[in-house]
Amino acid sequence: MNVVRTSNAPDARYRLPRTVAPSRYDLVLEPDLGAATFVGSEEIVLEVREPVDEILLNAVELEIDAAWITGEGGRRIDVADVRVDLETERAHLDLPVTITPGTWTLHLGFRGVLNDRMCGFYRSTYTSDDGVEHVIATTQFESTDARRAFPCWDEPDLKAVFGVTLVVPDGLLAISNGPEVAREPVGDGRVSVRFADTMPMSTYLAAFVVGRLEATDPVDVDGVPLRIVHVPGKGHLTASGLEIGAFSLRFFADYYGIPYPDRKLDMIALPDFAQGAMENLGCITYREIALLVDPAKATQEELQGVADTVAHEIAHMWFGDLVTMRWWNGVWLNEAFATFMELLCVHAFRPEWDRWALHARSRSVAFEIDALSTTRPIEYPVRSPDDASGMFDTLTYTKGASVLRMLEQYLGADRFRDGIRRYLSDHAYSNTETSDLWDAIEAATGEPVRRIMDTWIWQGGFPLVSVYSEDGSLRLEQRRFRFDAAEDDGRWEVPLVVRHGSSSDAPVGPVLVGPDGSSLPYADGGAVVVNAGGHGFVRVRYEEDLRARLMGALFELTPVERYQLVDDAWAATVAGAMSVADFCRLAQGFARETDLPVWQALLLGLGWCERILDGEPRERMRAYVRELVRPALDHVGWEARAEDPDLTRALRGALFSGLGVLGGDPEVLALAREIELESRGTGSPDPSLAAAAVSVIAAAGGPEEFASFLEARDTAATPQEELRYLNALAGFRDPALLGRALEIAASDAVRPQNAPQFFARALMNRDHGALAWAFVRDRWQTIVARLAPSTVVFVVHGVRALVDPRVVEDVQQFFTRHDIPQSALQLRQTLETQRVNAAFAARARGELEAAFGG
Ligand SMILES: [Zn+2]
Repeated sequence: MNVVRTSNAPDARYRLPRTVAPSRYDLVLEPDLGAATFVGSEEIVLEVREPVDEILLNAVELEIDAAWITGEGGRRIDVADVRVDLETERAHLDLPVTITPGTWTLHLGFRGVLNDRMCGFYRSTYTSDDGVEHVIATTQFESTDARRAFPCWDEPDLKAVFGVTLVVPDGLLAISNGPEVAREPVGDGRVSVRFADTMPMSTYLAAFVVGRLEATDPVDVDGVPLRIVHVPGKGHLTASGLEIGAFSLRFFADYYGIPYPDRKLDMIALPDFAQGAMENLGCITYREIALLVDPAKATQEELQGVADTVAHEIAHMWFGDLVTMRWWNGVWLNEAFATFMELLCVHAFRPEWDRWALHARSRSVAFEIDALSTTRPIEYPVRSPDDASGMFDTLTYTKGASVLRMLEQYLGADRFRDGIRRYLSDHAYSNTETSDLWDAIEAATGEPVRRIMDTWIWQGGFPLVSVYSEDGSLRLEQRRFRFDAAEDDGRWEVPLVVRHGSSSDAPVGPVLVGPDGSSLPYADGGAVVVNAGGHGFVRVRYEEDLRARLMGALFELTPVERYQLVDDAWAATVAGAMSVADFCRLAQGFARETDLPVWQALLLGLGWCERILDGEPRERMRAYVRELVRPALDHVGWEARAEDPDLTRALRGALFSGLGVLGGDPEVLALAREIELESRGTGSPDPSLAAAAVSVIAAAGGPEEFASFLEARDTAATPQEELRYLNALAGFRDPALLGRALEIAASDAVRPQNAPQFFARALMNRDHGALAWAFVRDRWQTIVARLAPSTVVFVVHGVRALVDPRVVEDVQQFFTRHDIPQSALQLRQTLETQRVNAAFAARARGELEAAFGG
């Protein structure tokens, strides 16, 4: 086993010297919401470790108007010159003399602008019922944007205590990381609000929010007051967020064996927010849809979205905030672990959602990227802010969480947790490298955790495990799974669970498949499930005989195992190792299927097939879909019943939408119109059916429906319904209507936070993706100018559905001339995915035409 490690040595130009380090910031910020500016002052207590005549710290887009230092005894030295280097985002403070090691205090006065790009100290707005626009000043610092709000040592290992004071108009709400401890008028209609000191923490976790906002009454969670802060009038959407918030606080304090590390927790729903949410210590910020929800009107997926996000951010209060990566190369562990804990917590919160089974679907997205030649190792060197930004992707979150789950299942949940507890208590208030976690789990379990995990962390890709029987034993071999036919260039230590027997209560055992494969005793000739439980980050290929045994006992397998059979088959189809006609035949074996993720996998594959057909073969394909899906919907029942579990409702929605959009079933369309009308009136149909109805109508809708959806978006009562109707506009298949939808998305009528996903959906429009592409291409500069930099690449994600050769060529050419430096690798991956899909479409079209040509 040979894992090559690349150097993690950071580029010195982007790193601050360790000759001077902060231990405390006393920070006063005075935002002017009307003028969208702020002034600030700070006193930073410094430990000077070597004689220096220059102090170097991070600052960008700030005017530093005053700078001096004081030493012991109050000796004052004015800074002679301030030079800001735009490229490296650093300020050089030249001192007239060399100062000696010891404790000094740096005093700075500065000014800045509340920007509109959702990073640093920025402006968010909302309009109240009386038509008045209100401004909120808020922050988003991760990874490297604290330096846009105040000059600082903006690197995660330079932890310090923050004492924050906000000077704001009386009557506005002001929030920061710690609880409010003092408030006094400053004489001009404003008040000075002081917050308690934080624990020592990284700059990227500081947060300030000021605006005309409301807070719920605090919920006492074992002594920690928990509140949700929101724009006025949305208090009725907070109950679910508070419930999962309180559950998560207790769940994690118990799991980690460490009390919550702050004195209060505010969760703030913001009208403009680039990502989903941000784990600022004690002051978590969210986009509204990730926190505010009406459970009576939301689908299971939408409710789960809130639960996931809240649990994820609260998991970070310990893993991330209390113990922090030393540098941004370690952000994968921070995010992978929080994602893993989010799933564990939500699984405990709503066992009926079977959260780990639903995770299999997200994992397939990670598999898809990780099968590309442009994939990357989970951990890689990070030098510049752009490199750090590029770390926040599917491989970090989803592949990272999945390999942690694989390890946890292999070691056993309790032993894994013991290792986590050891890691957190050993490194509290401090910083770590990835290997510190493996060492802690290794110490707690005695297993070769570092050796196993190094093979997953330091190389890209994942194995295809081939299974066959040979002379009374079962042989497991591995090779890398890739979409292209390039060389087989990776080997892993694969921790799997193997079950002898199809039934879920048959005996299981762990097996570590090494680079040269493994052999297991196999005498009885019965069914075998390799990757039992479906937690391994592997694809599996069974020899024909073994596969036939599993297909014969399909419904004895767990839902995730069945999901994985379908998903592995679909991946083999895209890779050209299985014919698409065989995939459609395999799908027929699932006629009795009643599990949501399995249906989602089937519909995904069939959806791709339907996309690439036209004319008569397409109509036959649609008839085939109707024959497959209708009996399943009949079985679940077309109407929701009060006693239906959440996943049954979600399944009904998925089947209804599949039958309507993919199958083009006229009965479904007629019913969808009734349901949608009912949901707009006084009735309240089942939310899953209501959401499915919107997608069915969009695919068949005309100008009247378009206008009605636009109005529904503007008057929606919840963030979920607002987004549902907005996104549906990208699904209209009339070119003129899609053109209008694109114009709307490029205008101020759509918040920049929602535009990237909208454009991606428009690019995936079944009939007119090329039209959407021409729009995006021609307006690229103006579209991008409105977006938070980290979200630009999400626009491009939609091109993976554009498989017409001329469009493929145009897209690929365009991005040789337009780069996205903060997401360079994600862009290359998306472009490669488009080429993979185009090759698949070219190959599969003929096969499908032969199969459905009559
Ligand atoms: Zn996170």
